[in-house]
Amino acid sequence: MKTYKFKLYKTKRQKHLHRRVRIAGEVYNHLIAFHKRYYSMFGKYPGKYKVQNQLPKLKKRYPHWKQVGSQALQAIVYRIDFGYQKFFRKENKRPPSFRNLRKFKSFTLTQAGWELNEDNSVNIGGIQYKFWKSQKILGKPKCMHVKRDALGDFYICIVTDIEEYKPDYAASSETVGMDFGLKTYFSLSDGKEIEAPEFFKQGSKELAKCQRILARKVKDSKSRKQAVKATARVHKKIAARRKDWQEKEARKLARKYGAIFVEDLSIGGMKALWGRKVSDLAFYQQVQILERQCSKAGTIFGKVDRWLPSTRMCSSCGQLHDMPLDKRTMQCDCGLVLDRDANAAINIKNAGMSALGPGAVRRETSARAA
Ligand SMILES: [Zn+2]
Repeated sequence: MKTYKFKLYKTKRQKHLHRRVRIAGEVYNHLIAFHKRYYSMFGKYPGKYKVQNQLPKLKKRYPHWKQVGSQALQAIVYRIDFGYQKFFRKENKRPPSFRNLRKFKSFTLTQAGWELNEDNSVNIGGIQYKFWKSQKILGKPKCMHVKRDALGDFYICIVTDIEEYKPDYAASSETVGMDFGLKTYFSLSDGKEIEAPEFFKQGSKELAKCQRILARKVKDSKSRKQAVKATARVHKKIAARRKDWQEKEARKLARKYGAIFVEDLSIGGMKALWGRKVSDLAFYQQVQILERQCSKAGTIFGKVDRWLPSTRMCSSCGQLHDMPLDKRTMQCDCGLVLDRDANAAINIKNAGMSALGPGAVRRETSARAA
């Protein structure tokens, strides 16, 4: 599956989309209430089919629900069920719950109720909207999400059928381990380093300023609303810029190496260790991006056990050392003297290779001139 995201041109017609999003939120909350009532009466989860069977009756009682289309209603039932299934599998701590209607952001259409036109426009519920067609849509569209962001802009996300990705270059057999750090963004086991760009820092300063201004505003005032929007705008800009950089770096790495190993980072654990800065650098997002770019490029991507003492272990002889955060160099009795992060990266690479087994990373390097 591939998803294409396009921004809709702003028009007055978008009031229809705003209304649909609002109704979708209302339906969502109504169905959540139904789940809760059902549970308190029968002590169990109703299941999506029982909820689905309620829909015709509810549509009679709330005729305006028809405006979002029956498929969008179905999609809400599935979305709630998905949330519950995740909760039952213990992937989510809490079951789905009520949402603030003002913050409700999207609705989904499957086959009916929308149509892509030949040009750069889409019909949603019989109304035409133009969008910024930044790329060609390949594959067969399966469904569409209509999303509204914090600035009130609308986007359509079109999900299309799976497409085979054929790398346009030969893969390498080079294997690399990577360590993420606050000082050096990536440290690679082959000694290369990639620094985080300066704008990572600048961005968070700008954001902090916005948040300070926001904190001074009177609750429910007009100027507060403006400040909220301004903050959201900065947030969006920074996030987009950072993601762009992360994607580019990940693509370069995925194309260069045949296998990449990183430490299995738990975001909670990292925050405890390093504090808030971690979320600024967004390592977590970086790992996800890297994983996706690797699968696109046909590169092996692996996470090694997070309990591996990658920082404390000498990568040459395996001896463990005390490595407080300010100690930048690993110095071992065996004679190894190496940068702390580079040493960790080598340990990560070795752990990854041994988990994979010999010969697992075997590809042609010859065709890789670039
Ligand atoms: Zn050693």
